[in-house]
Amino acid sequence: MKFKSIEGGENCSEGILRIYNHYPNNWAVFENFAFGVIVNLLMKRLPEMRKLKRKVKRHIAIYFFPKRVTSQLQLRQGECRQCGKCCKLLFRCPMLVGKNPPYKCLIYSNRSKVCQQFPICREDLEDVNYQCGYSFR
Ligand code: SF4
Repeated sequence: MKFKSIEGGENCSEGILRIYNHYPNNWAVFENFAFGVIVNLLMKRLPEMRKLKRKVKRHIAIYFFPKRVTSQLQLRQGECRQCGKCCKLLFRCPMLVGKNPPYKCLIYSNRSKVCQQFPICREDLEDVNYQCGYSFR
């Protein structure tokens, strides 16, 4: 199968040669290639990147903006089903024991505020595929 370039009617390899000739040196071609590879890798890791972003945001909100979090929690309804999904975001918490729900937390009474308060907003539910016992009004 031959791919057509956007500009002319030539095939893909001719198009690449034209791009190569357009750049003054090999470095520019390498730069573009490396950029493409990085973007591709980031796109593949996009769900994890989003989870990481929300995890960081949750930590910042809970420790630096507790009043705002308290008002958000007033919109929350339901209860925890101890499914353990929020204990496995990006990695499984080493304090989580058991192979099937309901799981047990080894430090349940001393767990962090971030664990105690998950989820703090509707956006957080996306991290657990909306299978949390909590929901937001
Ligand atoms: S995902 Fe929701 S229901 Fe499951 S353990 Fe976490 S807070 Fe509880």
